[in-house]
Amino acid sequence: MTVSDEEKLDVLRRLDQFRQWQSLDQKRYCLVCGEMITGRDVQVIETAPSEEPLRLACPTEHCQAMPIEWVLPTDDVLIKIAMVEAERGWFRLVQQAGRAIQSCQRRSKGSKISRRRSKPTRG
Ligand SMILES: [Zn+2]
Repeated sequence: MTVSDEEKLDVLRRLDQFRQWQSLDQKRYCLVCGEMITGRDVQVIETAPSEEPLRLACPTEHCQAMPIEWVLPTDDVLIKIAMVEAERGWFRLVQQAGRAIQSCQRRSKGSKISRRRSKPTRG
């Protein structure tokens, strides 16, 4: 549904009782999808008639985050984001290493060098 900027800000203020919205340009960090969103990005969804017919939704596809999960991008949060990004980078490296090892193993399996040896004698 389309709402004017003013209406949207009003809805944000009404439905997000956890943090203050001064303007639609304010940023929030979504804890669920890990994206930085602005009030402008937030989607206003019309729900079935109930006490509160409007609902706020994260603009990210498939993200079901609620306003309580949108935190202010304070230093703490930004550090956390940086850490997650670093972790992702590290994870990528691990994946790459894993792939390299796999292709190595494939190569060695393909070669016909058998490691058949007599059973190690103990004692
Ligand atoms: Zn989200």
